[in-house]
Amino acid sequence: LSTKQLSVQELAELDKKYFLHPTTAPKVHAEQGPKIMFSEGKGIYVKDMDGNSYIDGVSMLWNVNLGHGQKELAEAAKEQMEKLAYSSSFIGYSNEPAVRLAEKLVSLAPGDLNSVFYTSGGSESNDTAFKLARFYWELKGQPKKRKIIALENAYHGVTIAAQTATSIPNFHTFSSSNISDVFHAKPHLTNCELGDKSDPNYEGCIRDIVEKEGADSIAAVIMEPVQGSGGVYIPPDGYLQAVRKLCDEFGILFIADEVITGFGRTGLMFGSENWDVVPDFLCFAKGVTSGYAQLGGVLIRQHIRDTIVQYEGVLSHGFTYSGHATACAVALKNIELMERDNIVVNAKNMEQVLADGFEYLKGKYDIVTKTRAIGLLSAFELYEDPTTEKPFDVSVMAAAKVGEECFSRKLLIRPIRVGEGKNIIAIAPPLVINKQEIEQ
Ligand code: PLP
Repeated sequence: LSTKQLSVQELAELDKKYFLHPTTAPKVHAEQGPKIMFSEGKGIYVKDMDGNSYIDGVSMLWNVNLGHGQKELAEAAKEQMEKLAYSSSFIGYSNEPAVRLAEKLVSLAPGDLNSVFYTSGGSESNDTAFKLARFYWELKGQPKKRKIIALENAYHGVTIAAQTATSIPNFHTFSSSNISDVFHAKPHLTNCELGDKSDPNYEGCIRDIVEKEGADSIAAVIMEPVQGSGGVYIPPDGYLQAVRKLCDEFGILFIADEVITGFGRTGLMFGSENWDVVPDFLCFAKGVTSGYAQLGGVLIRQHIRDTIVQYEGVLSHGFTYSGHATACAVALKNIELMERDNIVVNAKNMEQVLADGFEYLKGKYDIVTKTRAIGLLSAFELYEDPTTEKPFDVSVMAAAKVGEECFSRKLLIRPIRVGEGKNIIAIAPPLVINKQEIEQ
C-alpha cells in the first residue's frame, strides 16, 4: 500500500474505512469521506490533490503562522533528525535543541517567566499548568487550593482536565468525563473583577466565584488573553490587568493559555503583552513551530520555579515527547525566521488592512457586524438584522453556509459556534500574509 500510487477516490475510501477524524461528524464522514485531501502548500495557499488552490484563511488550526512550504523549517528538521531525532528528557537526560529553545523562549517571554516545561501540544500544556499549580500549593503547605476557574466561551483543549476548563457546550456533550473542581466565570467583566459589587453582572464573575468558593480552595484562574475557538473575543482594556490584580489580592495563580495568541498572532510576541500582564504560567503550543512539528509547553515564573526546585522527590509528570529534539530544533528555526522576517511586526501592520476589509464587507453585506481584529486574529458576526442584533434562526446555520460558500470559492475560513445560534466567522491567516493577499 505504501508504494502503490493511489487516486483521490481510493484514498477517500481508505480514509472512510480506517481514519476516525477529530472534531468531525463520524456518521457523515463514514458516508461522505474527507471534505478535502490536502497535498501541498506555499505561503498562505494550500492545494488539494486535484490541484485546486485555496487561501488558508485560518492558518489551518490557527497554527501555521509562517505559512506553508517553508523549506528552512523542513531543513532544520532534517538536519536534527539525521543527527539525533529524539532523546528522552526524563531522569535528567537532555539535548541541545531543547536547552537552546528553553533559553530562547525565556528571553522572549514577558517578566520573570524564566523556565519551561515541555509538552507536545496545547491540551497537555494546560493540564500541566493545572498540575503544577496544585503541586505549587501543596509545596506551599496549602493542599486544599485545588479548584480552577475558567471562563465561559473558553477553549482549552480536550484532555480531560483541559476539556473541563473548556466551556464550549459541544465539547461537553461528547463524553461526560469531566474532572470536578472547575468553575466557569462570566468573561471580560472589568468592573466586577476590580471589586465593583454594584455591577449588575457581579454574580458569576471571577471575583464572585472566589468569594463564594473561598480563595483557600482555589489554585488558579485560566484564560486565553483573547478567546479563540469560543468566538474570537478580545477583552476590553483593563480586564486582564484586573484579573491579574485579583489573583494577587487573593493568592491565586494566573494561567494564560497562549496556545493561539502566542508567537505573534496578536501583533506582539505574546497576547498577554497587549495588556502588560505577566501570568504565573504561560501555556503555548501551535505557533511555536508554526505547526511543522508537535510541540507545546508551559513557561513558569521565577517564584514558582524557586518553590518547585526545593522539592526533593521526583516531579512525576512529563510526556515521552517533552523536549523532543527535532520539534525543538524546528521551533528554534521558526523563531529565528520570525525575527529575521519581522513577522510579528507584519501581523501588527496587517491588522488595519483586515479591519479595512471588514468595513468593506459590512458595506457590501447587510448581515455582517461586530467585526474585530487584534493582529491577525479576527472575526465578524452574522445577524439577520445587525442594527437590532436580531439573530438568525438556528436552523438557518448562517455561519456554516458562509463557510461553505467561501470553501466553494477556494477560501478556508472558520465558522464557529455553529448550532448554538451564534454565527461567527473567524479569520486568522498565516502571519506572512501581505496586503494584496488580504485584499484578495
Ligand atoms: N488552548 C487553546 C486556546 C487552543 O486554541 C487549543 C487548540 O485549538 C488548545 C488549547 C488545545 O491545543 P491542542 O489541540 O494542541 O491540544
